[in-house]
Amino acid sequence: MERESWQNARRYSDEQMQIAAQVLDEILQGIPVMKAVRSHPLNAGGYIAKHTLVHVYRQKVEQGSLAENPALLARIRMKPVRSLSGVSTVTVLTEPHDCPGECLFCPDDRQLPKSYLREEPGAARAFQNNFDPYLQVKSRLDSYLAIGHPIDKIELLILGGSWSAYPVEYREEFVKRCLDAMNGRESGSLEEAQTINQTAGSRNVGLVVETRPDTINSAELAFMRSLGVTKVQMGAQSFDDEILRLNCRGHDVQATLDACALLRAAGFKIVLHWMPNLLGATPDSDRADFLKMWSGGFCPDEIKIYPTQLLREAPLYAFWQEGRYQPYSTEQLVELIADIKPHIPVYSRVNRIIRDIPASYIQAGSRRSSLRLDVMQALERRGQRCRCIRCREIRGKPVKADQLTMGDFIYHPADAEEHFIHFSTVDDQLAGYLRLSLPSSDFPPARRPQREALYAAIPELRGTALIREVHIYGQSLEVGSEQAGAAQHSGLGTALLKEAEQTAIKNGFSRLAVIAAIGTSLYYEKRGFVKEHLYMTKKLA
Ligand code: SF4
Ligand SMILES: [Zn+2]
Repeated sequence: MERESWQNARRYSDEQMQIAAQVLDEILQGIPVMKAVRSHPLNAGGYIAKHTLVHVYRQKVEQGSLAENPALLARIRMKPVRSLSGVSTVTVLTEPHDCPGECLFCPDDRQLPKSYLREEPGAARAFQNNFDPYLQVKSRLDSYLAIGHPIDKIELLILGGSWSAYPVEYREEFVKRCLDAMNGRESGSLEEAQTINQTAGSRNVGLVVETRPDTINSAELAFMRSLGVTKVQMGAQSFDDEILRLNCRGHDVQATLDACALLRAAGFKIVLHWMPNLLGATPDSDRADFLKMWSGGFCPDEIKIYPTQLLREAPLYAFWQEGRYQPYSTEQLVELIADIKPHIPVYSRVNRIIRDIPASYIQAGSRRSSLRLDVMQALERRGQRCRCIRCREIRGKPVKADQLTMGDFIYHPADAEEHFIHFSTVDDQLAGYLRLSLPSSDFPPARRPQREALYAAIPELRGTALIREVHIYGQSLEVGSEQAGAAQHSGLGTALLKEAEQTAIKNGFSRLAVIAAIGTSLYYEKRGFVKEHLYMTKKLA
């Protein structure tokens, strides 16, 4: 990463620079940040912004008048929550392209990939950058730097309707150019970009794509692995065939289950989108439908709850105009989500409970963007809580390894036994976890051919236990910096890996594979894994 790019991110007046330097001095002398900021109002009114403090901090470090001080940077950084899970996320959109789906609820703006709207936050940035992957990633990294975020560990989230519907060459070039932007230089091929990224300043520690369940097959998964994909988001939307049919989804529930089973057998992390309030659903049918997510063998690692939003750009709008569709009210939605949240198992994370669509697009029904907060308050009133991963993350809190207890939550999705091995505190906060998947040899005859095709496409997976994820919390740290007490650096990852090895051995496995992201391969190499073809593997004693 070109470290000097922060200099060009914004321009500041002499007054702003002087005040920021004064405020920074006072913070260094021990004065609380907001007190120091408030004691130096700007001439035109208002106060100095945190990004100005970060800018002056970086300038002083660059000039040598201030030593690198991660603790100070952490105090003046804006929106610290964004990198609290240890990794900064960069979202990019692919160029407009047809999707084979015809879902009733899906908006179609011909200038964007199907299902996206011009004023959605990620879409607007993609549009400004003409969908160029290099520019999208670079501008995001530059703005992270300008607001003081570490950018050494990047999860790349590629959005845009249906990834698998794009031509192979486009997808290869897209990922290559994203990596080029992280590497700070252009490379001749995807493989070269991947090699450079293993030791680059901004390493790719996760690569996520979104697609439809009916595009998942063994050849597609092998291709995704060659790109470096580690996580796949899919729209399940409903676990009721009749609802899927009414909404012209174009695939059935079985397709979602088969896709989940195959993705799991190949070690991918699975994110499912689920939509209450589809055409034909009621709050009661939605309550029952949500429970099938866990009892029906899908068991996603992460979920996004996207209540159907009525958009003029989607075919569903005509149904509403004809009186054949009615959106839920905010109260109905809050009740529904508060009812279902306590049923989410401890191994899954709720990433979102509403899609971030500007209210002006929504024609009827709830326009509430703070739904998550409303639901939390409703749960509090009821004396209930959600125990999903997100609600228990330890975030940036200092933690000592000896205050943590290791546990193993075992569950049984389709065709596998899963071990959610985790470290938690006495007050039920999660400091880190590992997902170990033990593929079952006992599965329905109908899914045998897909499993055989997977092992034919990726032979290194046969008879192998899989580590699908290792996640340790703590404020993500800049490369080379240390932060006493942050969970990421207290050896939790190594302890989790050892436990996974023992569990795999106890269950009769003699090999372990990990779905390493491009930028995490050195981490696993140091822990005894060797690169095979698409995975890193280790022989177990
Ligand atoms: S599959 Fe996704 S992008 Fe395609 S029409 Fe359906 S919702 Fe829209
Ligand atoms: Zn939760």
